[in-house]
Amino acid sequence: MQHSGDIGRSTWALALHGGAGSARGTDRDDAAHVEERAALALALDAGGSILADGGSSLDAVEVAVRVLEDSPLFNAGRGAVFNSAGEHELDASIMDGRLLRAGAVAAVREVKNPITLARAVMDLTTEVLLVGDGALALARRLGLELAGPDWFFSERRWRALEDARAAASRPDEPPRDFSTVGAVALDCDGHLAAATSTGGLTNKPPGRVGDSALIGAGTYASDVSCAVSATGSGEHLIRATIARDIAAAVELGGYDLATAIAAALRRLRVIGGLGGVVALDRNGRIAFDFNTDLMFRGMVAADQPRRTAVWRDD
Ligand code: ASP
Repeated sequence: MQHSGDIGRSTWALALHGGAGSARGTDRDDAAHVEERAALALALDAGGSILADGGSSLDAVEVAVRVLEDSPLFNAGRGAVFNSAGEHELDASIMDGRLLRAGAVAAVREVKNPITLARAVMDLTTEVLLVGDGALALARRLGLELAGPDWFFSERRWRALEDARAAASRPDEPPRDFSTVGAVALDCDGHLAAATSTGGLTNKPPGRVGDSALIGAGTYASDVSCAVSATGSGEHLIRATIARDIAAAVELGGYDLATAIAAALRRLRVIGGLGGVVALDRNGRIAFDFNTDLMFRGMVAADQPRRTAVWRDD
């Protein structure tokens, strides 16, 4: 699958990512990435069947992201990375392209599926972003599923924390592996939606909020332009307001999606950022691009079979 593929027009479409990163590194030992591809396929099936049945893009992105949050393979929900205190603080956001409604949570603990909590913030409150204990209180009030540290623990993530602590004295070696998850969808009614969920960066300080919780940075959707979900070095993605930047280039600049993304990634590189995006425009055209070695990604559409990809030329 080309890194900025074009599927042509579709009545519905879904694309997702499971993070971008480097070829080297502890997370990337299995070059075939069989398990990650299988998890992406499950998420595509879950979200795709909603769209095929005439369901909404919002439901599709939420469900697809939930599947990836429940997988220990990606840095979201169950597979979230550890912060510097050896704990998990989760960020997620979701956006409805119809009327630019949005919901997000940041630095929230214990919530198994932060994307569903973000959706609840959007649907049930007048706020856009709830953080920390306030977000957890809403999850409790709604009876969302909570879990203790065992659910979120994995040896692999703990080792990554130890490695990151050891490397902290070498600030010239910034993180190069990102496995945040995200999804974008277009439904049969022509509505776009985007969703992103993450554990953030390994060894981040408690209270740190990344791009995945911020509308316009990690997530954006507007029916008049496109839906975007990003992954990568969050501070750079925030400074670049990358998701909104891409949507603005499409909406106001008249650029096609692939051109808008390429320009945004060039700017990201200039400021020292690493990462990738998945995006989908109002005509059902999907585009992926990244300035890292690889990005876990997948797509399915009304007229296109399910496909997953990892390397640039997959
Ligand atoms: N963008 C995420 C963050 O900085 C990390 C990732 O993409 O994996 O929180």
